[in-house]
Amino acid sequence: MLPPRLSRRARRKAGMKAVAARQERAKVKEQIATGDLFFFDLFTDERKSVTRMKLIDLLQAVPGIGQVRAEIIFDRTGISPSRRIGGVGKRQLELLRQEFLLMKNSRRSGKLLVVSGPSGVGKSTITNNLRSDDRFWISVSATTRNIRTNEVDGIDYHFVSSDRFNEMIEGKEFLEWADFAGAKYGTPKQPVAEALANGKNVILEIELNGARQVRKNSNDAVLIFIEPPSWEVLKSRLINRGTESEQSTQARLDRAKEELSAAVEFDHILINHRVEDSVAELVSLALA
Ligand code: 5GP
Repeated sequence: MLPPRLSRRARRKAGMKAVAARQERAKVKEQIATGDLFFFDLFTDERKSVTRMKLIDLLQAVPGIGQVRAEIIFDRTGISPSRRIGGVGKRQLELLRQEFLLMKNSRRSGKLLVVSGPSGVGKSTITNNLRSDDRFWISVSATTRNIRTNEVDGIDYHFVSSDRFNEMIEGKEFLEWADFAGAKYGTPKQPVAEALANGKNVILEIELNGARQVRKNSNDAVLIFIEPPSWEVLKSRLINRGTESEQSTQARLDRAKEELSAAVEFDHILINHRVEDSVAELVSLALA
């Protein structure tokens, strides 16, 4: 039997109700993120808009949790991320409380630091200086671009085929990924989660679109933008580096303009006059 047809007025009323519910859900999420609403109070909240919300959406919004830590919690408790707030049982609630307690009592867990900025600005040189510092862990991205002569597979990048990269996307193995100057780049999620859980400050050296994805999904990430002292300096660094074809250099310069205008979206801007100073500034931001 077909469902009864709604009158235009009833349809409008239903539409308005849906909008109001959406707005209420967004407000609850915001209140969790700002700390105005305590996560565990949600489980005694009888509003339909709350009971129907997915656990993953709210857990990720809790200050200090974000996407990566939320995934660790789901893994450890075995609770399904798509479970609705109203469907969380007593035992699961207890497991969640234990995880929160563990997080609070565990030694300070690491920060997620995103270092971004135009190609050629010196991001890798800066972050490479922290490789031997055991307070930090530098993420190794996967990429489909060709390996350069001075690079080592597994250290600079995991160089993979397009097919393998697509498999990793399908398998939801990336924290973020993006297309850049004709190749794909992505941050493998699992090693980042492990390093954070081990108390390391994790550094992702990624381009703008990737940084935006991390911002959206991890509200506790610290985003740092590296700027060149001037456009001319950037241009000559990129050209003199001699690692790219003329076409790739041009693509990178075109992208650089777009990236530079997005610096305001970041938490901190660091001008790379001298590598040593930039490294020191990065360390102090990380440990602040
Ligand atoms: P390159 O080809 O010069 O090594 O890198 C090109 C750009 O891709 C750089 O801006 C670099 O920061 C960025 N990149 C490297 N790894 C990743 C990644 O995992 N994700 C994203 N979104 N960008 C990346």
